[in-house]
Amino acid sequence: MTLVVTGGAGYVGSVCAQHLLDAGQDVVVVDDLSTGHRDAVPEGARLVVGDVAEVADEVLGAGGVDGVIHCAARSLVGESAVEPAKYWHGNVVTTVRLLDALRRHRVPRLVFSSTAATYGEPESSPITEDAPTRPTNTYGATKLAVDHAIGTYAAASDGEFRAVSLRYFNVAGAHAGTGPALGERHTVETHLIPLVLQVALGRRDEIAIFGDDWPTADGTCVRDYIHVDDLAEAHLLALDLLAGGEVPDGGHLVCNLGNGTGFSVLEVIEACRRVTGHPIPARVAPRRTGDPGVLVASAARARDELGWKPTHTDLDGIVADAWAFARTRVD
Ligand code: UDP
Repeated sequence: MTLVVTGGAGYVGSVCAQHLLDAGQDVVVVDDLSTGHRDAVPEGARLVVGDVAEVADEVLGAGGVDGVIHCAARSLVGESAVEPAKYWHGNVVTTVRLLDALRRHRVPRLVFSSTAATYGEPESSPITEDAPTRPTNTYGATKLAVDHAIGTYAAASDGEFRAVSLRYFNVAGAHAGTGPALGERHTVETHLIPLVLQVALGRRDEIAIFGDDWPTADGTCVRDYIHVDDLAEAHLLALDLLAGGEVPDGGHLVCNLGNGTGFSVLEVIEACRRVTGHPIPARVAPRRTGDPGVLVASAARARDELGWKPTHTDLDGIVADAWAFARTRVD
């Protein structure tokens, strides 16, 4: 049987594809290479270049596809504010067309890359899956819309189609295996750890801290950083659950993925200083629009339903893997 990974030339998708290959699965990557990189597609995976909705019939109609991990998406929060159409089409319309193709070709399993951004500003911490979903940006709104769509397709399928939405918190680190290392290579980089490491590499003069007046211990934002290898493992466990186990919630399980521990922006910068030995100049800047102060996951459901247990819970270790990757890259 074959598993399809959409967005498999991107950061999370390529690591998921590698984990599947390591587990002995056949993997087809679908990616339009608009933000992904051809050379990030792991050796052993077949690459189909194209828009997910456009090539879905060709890929799924070939038969033998047993499940899809759907990572392909538009994922820049700032861009989603100025180009909403790109997000509603790229995330929602495309995924609904993928869902139709899954139904047409009777593909029984889907694991979807959802996000903590579906919750917006949380009322309490850690965030459980029952927390109110009030996204504060268009990106989060589109991902939440897809979660809803998937739920209705699963509910209407009479058990023939089942899905897991994995709500990622802050994915970080890099995969190092027998093949080329796989890590964050965004053309437009907005994420904290790779930006801080760019300072250590001399590619940026300093890191801007987006606000130091948050109601947190040191005044900077707190996030839950999860290693990309732990994240990928959760996708494989989700596929296992969908293959055999009882899937709660009408055949669509929504599950947070985080370590359950928060680190502040200052703590991340300190970890980067320790790991790189670079002083990393930092400057306080205004808050970034749409940023919640604290986002920490309750990982209880992932543990209970998927049997998932993160193995990289040490921030310095996560940063060290990201650093080892960043040093090898010229792009
Ligand atoms: N952040 C920052 N400076 C930067 C980039 C990010 O202070 O140059 C902060 C941001 O406000 C947030 C945290 O770092 O609190 C993580 O941001 P990132 O963009 O990596 O992920 P997000 O939490 O937005 O998904």
